[in-house]
Amino acid sequence: MTTLDDVAFPLEVCVDCYSELGGVLENPDPAWDRSAFDRAREGYGDITYGHFAEQVHPGEECDEDTECGQITYSKSPCELCGSSLHGAREVVTGWKSERREIFC
Ligand SMILES: [Zn+2]
Ligand SMILES: [Zn+2]
Repeated sequence: MTTLDDVAFPLEVCVDCYSELGGVLENPDPAWDRSAFDRAREGYGDITYGHFAEQVHPGEECDEDTECGQITYSKSPCELCGSSLHGAREVVTGWKSERREIFC
């Protein structure tokens, strides 16, 4: 049986990648690596905003007041472009394959 963990991957991404996913990236950091972003992007069938409560914190609803999952400061590399610039991260969900319709 396919589970959510087989097809959906919560990703912490930098604000430049997040903006690019929304099609509004205007002034990326000069160090932002579009080719790395594009390669990572191709690894997923689709990428949606936010995460699934039952996957990331089972038993608890997402707290919309705090934009659940948003990280104001992180030293971890962006999980799309690989940027190691410290800073804010947004949470998105990368979908492997077209099997996302099982869950959406
Ligand atoms: Zn949540
Ligand atoms: Zn990034």
